[in-house]
Amino acid sequence: MASLEDIKTIGVIGAGQMGNGIAHVIALAGYDVRLLDISQDALNKAFDAMGKNMDRQVKKELITAAQKDDALKRVSTGTEYSFLSDCDLVIEAATENEEVKKQIFKALCPVLGPEAIIATNTSSISVTRLASYTDRPSKFMGMHFMNPVPLMKLVELIRGIATDEVTYRTIHELTKKLGKETASAEDFPAFIVNRILLPMINEAIYTLYEGVGNVKSIDTALRLGANHPMGPLQLADFIGLDTCLSIMHVLHDGLADTKYRPCPLLVKYVEAGWLGRKAGRGFYDYSGDEPVPTR
Ligand code: NAD
Repeated sequence: MASLEDIKTIGVIGAGQMGNGIAHVIALAGYDVRLLDISQDALNKAFDAMGKNMDRQVKKELITAAQKDDALKRVSTGTEYSFLSDCDLVIEAATENEEVKKQIFKALCPVLGPEAIIATNTSSISVTRLASYTDRPSKFMGMHFMNPVPLMKLVELIRGIATDEVTYRTIHELTKKLGKETASAEDFPAFIVNRILLPMINEAIYTLYEGVGNVKSIDTALRLGANHPMGPLQLADFIGLDTCLSIMHVLHDGLADTKYRPCPLLVKYVEAGWLGRKAGRGFYDYSGDEPVPTR
């Protein structure tokens, strides 16, 4: 039976913005990390990003240079599944696409020991359905880190319908050991954070669409009127408008309630390729020194 003491080596699948952050916090907590991606380029970039982000923590005196060096030494990278065979836990953080994740679990299960736990960082796909693609639904659960992982305190923990108590408890203790706080969510569309956050962002986009306010007035209203650190449109650009739309679709399809219908203006922006910060344009234009509202 797995317990926190049995977990020594942790695999992370997917070395994108979430995977490198997850590997970062796990290595700093003293675990050996095996980071796997299909792309060697993504692995190289992730390793560089981890070094740079840890340098920032050293500068702020949050960690020492020795802790950084030790942590980076504990991270190894690879592209073959056999590389994950000695992992006691594997956290899947690959692209948000159910077919991609299904193929990953099919390749992963045969190389893992029978007691190893599998967790997924999915933002919106059913944990119960993902568990069904594995040979161990009782040792499978959601471990939803927030972006950027080294800075954000929360990890949402999601039980699939088959997740057993020992698995849940082990992952709960591990999350605490990583220095994070937990919130427990049942396996319903978009869990807790995105179930509440995304309808608010969608409503802000409706407010813009209907001309109730412009980008600046909507973001200023929520920052100064509700004490939010970022306005909802600024936050939408940070998350990525394609991701926002995909989560609204999950809520709309999964809960079949018209209150979750994605705003037509959000759909239009995604169709235009105006995906937010990562595309250089969303509700703000990021081509200059300062973001400029586009409406
Ligand atoms: P990303 O696009 O930055 O990274 C995805 C990585 O997965 C890429 O490096 C890609 O090469 C790799 N990949 C694709 N197919 C693979 C395969 N078959 N095997 C191994 N690696 C593969 O994406 P991200 O933003 O890091 O998101 C990853 C996961 O985290 C998604 O499930 C997403 O929903 C979730 N998530 C994202 C955020 C966010 O704000 N971006 C927040 C919480 C959770």
